[in-house]
Amino acid sequence: MAVLSRLLKSRHCVFSSILCTIRTFSSSSLISRTHLRLSSSSSPSLERNVQWVFLGCPGVGKGTYAGRLTKLLGVPHISTGDLVREELANRGALASQLEKIVNQGHLVSDEIIIDLLSKRLEAGESRGESGFILDGFPRTIRQAEILEGVTDIDLVINLKLREEALLAKCLGRRICSECGGNYNIACIDIKGENGSPGMYMAPLLPPSECTNKLITRSDDIEEVVKERLRVYNEMSLPLEDFYRCRGKLLEFDLPGGIPESWPKLLEALHLDNYNDETSLAA
Ligand code: ADP
Repeated sequence: MAVLSRLLKSRHCVFSSILCTIRTFSSSSLISRTHLRLSSSSSPSLERNVQWVFLGCPGVGKGTYAGRLTKLLGVPHISTGDLVREELANRGALASQLEKIVNQGHLVSDEIIIDLLSKRLEAGESRGESGFILDGFPRTIRQAEILEGVTDIDLVINLKLREEALLAKCLGRRICSECGGNYNIACIDIKGENGSPGMYMAPLLPPSECTNKLITRSDDIEEVVKERLRVYNEMSLPLEDFYRCRGKLLEFDLPGGIPESWPKLLEALHLDNYNDETSLAA
C-alpha cells in the first residue's frame, strides 16, 4: 500500500508538472511572433503560434518534415525521441533504464516521457519559446488524453509512407556525430506493379566533411525496427481515430522523397505562399 501511494504520489507530481508547464506555455504563446492564420477546416484561425503534432511510423520522416516546418514557422521542434537520446548520451539519471527499453524497441513509460517533456518545455519557456511542433508525442491514447487535458492541439499531421519503404529508411538512417545532421543512405526504388504506382526516394547523402563521421542509432537495426513498427501499430495507430473524431487529423501520403513531398505538404497545410528558405537549402 505504501509503495502504491508513493507511486501514485510521484505520478501525480510528474503530471502536475506537465500540466503547469504546458498551461504556462500555452498562455504565453498567445503573444504570437508569427500570428499565423490557417484556414483549413481542421485548424481554426489562430492568433498564436501553432501547436501541432506529427504522427507516423518509425522511418516515415517525422523528424525531417517537423524540422523543416519549425524553421519555416519559427516554433520549436520538440522530439521526445531526441529527448530520450539526449538523456542517454549525457548518461543522465534515467540512462541505464532507458537504454534497455529503447534498444528493445519498446515504449518508455508515460511518467518518464512526461518528465523529460516537462523539463524541455520549461527550458524553452525560460528562453521565450512559444508554440511547438511535437514529434513522437503523444504515442499512446493515455498520453493524448493527458495532452488534451492541458492544452489545445490545433492540427495533427499523420505522415504515411508505403510499408516497403519504412524498414529500408530506418536501416539507411545516419547521423553525423559532429554536427548532428541527419542523412539517409537508402535508395528506395519500388517498381510499380498490379496497378500500384512505383516510388523513388533518392538517398539523402551527407556533405564530404561529414562522410567519415556517420553513426547509426542503436535502435536502427532490423530486429528492433520491426519491433518498433509492431509497437507503433499496437499503441500509436489508435491515435489516428482519437484525432480524426476530433476533426484534427490531416492525412498526408508522402508521394516520394523530399523534393516531391515537401512542396505538396506545404500545399496541404496552406503554407505554399510562405517564404520558404528551407526548400532552397534542399
Ligand atoms: P521512431 O523513429 O521509432 O519514431 P523516436 O526517435 O521518436 O523513434 O523515439 C525513439 C524511442 O524513444 C522510442 O522507440 C521509444 O523507446 C522512446 N520514445 C520516444 N517518444 C516516446 C513516447 N512519447 N512515449 C514512449 N516512448 C517514447
